Amino acid sequence: MPDLRVAVIGSGPAGVYAAAALSDREGVAVDVLDRLPAPYGLVRYGVAPDHVKMKSVDVALRRILEHPAVRFLGNVEVGTDVDLAELHEHYDALVLAHGAAVDRRLGIPGEDLPGSFSATDFVAWYSGHPDAAIDRFTLEARSVAVIGVGNVAVDVARVMAKAADDMAPTDVPDHVLDVLRASRVTDISMIGRRGPAQAKFTTKELRELGEIAGADVLVDPADLALDEAAEAAVQADAVLRRNLDVLRDWADREPAGRDRRLHLRFLLRPVAVLGGTAVTGLRLERSTVDATGAAVGTGETVDLDAQMVLRSVGYRGLPLSGLPFDERSGVVPNAAGRVLRDGAPVPGEYVAGWIKRGPTGIIGTNKHDARETVTALLADADAGVLPRAPVRDAGALPALLDDRGVQVVTWQGWLAIDASEVDLGTTRGCARVKIAEREALLKAAREAG
Ligand code: NAP
Repeated sequence: MPDLRVAVIGSGPAGVYAAAALSDREGVAVDVLDRLPAPYGLVRYGVAPDHVKMKSVDVALRRILEHPAVRFLGNVEVGTDVDLAELHEHYDALVLAHGAAVDRRLGIPGEDLPGSFSATDFVAWYSGHPDAAIDRFTLEARSVAVIGVGNVAVDVARVMAKAADDMAPTDVPDHVLDVLRASRVTDISMIGRRGPAQAKFTTKELRELGEIAGADVLVDPADLALDEAAEAAVQADAVLRRNLDVLRDWADREPAGRDRRLHLRFLLRPVAVLGGTAVTGLRLERSTVDATGAAVGTGETVDLDAQMVLRSVGYRGLPLSGLPFDERSGVVPNAAGRVLRDGAPVPGEYVAGWIKRGPTGIIGTNKHDARETVTALLADADAGVLPRAPVRDAGALPALLDDRGVQVVTWQGWLAIDASEVDLGTTRGCARVKIAEREALLKAAREAG
């Protein structure tokens, strides 16, 4: 019998790294629950399909989920299929690592016009996320405006700028590839409300935009003029320095006349998405950066022609019933991973990943983050302050879910999905083609018996 039974909610990097840190300790049994039938969270449903090397972190995550002390329970939605109070009946401690599932809003007129989407939506769609309707995107727009200059904006811009043939060897579902093949997009504008010295993208990701065979990258040299504060910031930061080098190189180049153009624009604050029944453009206000680093409008506006707008302005966590939540920051209040209720830690409840620290960092950031949380959890266990769950039978929760008609996807079930996707890949001559629809995933899992 394990001494300590822990449930980790979310099988993205934060959850899986938490499971790894927990399984290092003798006598700990870990169940990793996910609302989706497939594991790996944003590694599967966020990392861009053409970032094959980054995606291969799933090999390491898989090893962790196959540890004898770890069990995967997929297709279980906490808050719907089972609630937190019930989980406390079965586990001595819960680690919430369910991420930041929704997009942040701009709060400008026209934001909800047909043709205006969140980048989160677009990423979910091309990643074959079961929540994304297959026909959500058509790419009939000629000109697309991407608001934001973070790495997600770079991802969505790159996926649209690449030739469909370059995406065919990836795992994108067939319906996505069909839309990419029929795409009419010629111009993609990435728009930063602040200057290049405040852009959030990293150099490696930025540079990739210049490596797309069918697209010219266009940068206005005037956008790269830095004031004293920006110049000092750039000199003090190697990433910013390299970013500026890349941007200046593009600004100096003559466009090669390729079919697609990627425009990188700065110091433009979105004020309205334009259009009547559908998006026709984006109104932007020229801005400057004030002493606090904020974008401040100058009053001068410019209109950009666009038939599609993608808002790529960051993710946000969602409250989970029974768990405290800070609406302002979109995270669960915590101290080093211990959930705080009215400022005091709650033994038995912990958070890791984006729901703990907000939507920042790279995949590897979650390793350290999860370890910090697990250190707190194990310290509480050693101090004897964890409540002891009354139900100690590992079969009890799956039985309860089964009674409720929930088809729990076990690790064997996931391996069957995995095998089906690899099989599908052979039909397109690539390593894997994703199954997108939830029902199809569940059907593939059932075939595992
Ligand atoms: P992000 O890095 O926070 O970038 C958000 C962008 O949206 C910023 O340019 C921000 O500008 C802008 N923005 C926010 N509010 C705005 C508003 N009201 N109007 C106009 N612009 C606004 O977020 P992200 O791109 O979603 O990325 C999330 C995390 O995932 C990051 O840590 C990122 O590095 C990571 N990620 C990494 C990769 C990779 O490694 N390849 C790929 C994807 C994502 P301000 O700076 O002015 O606020």
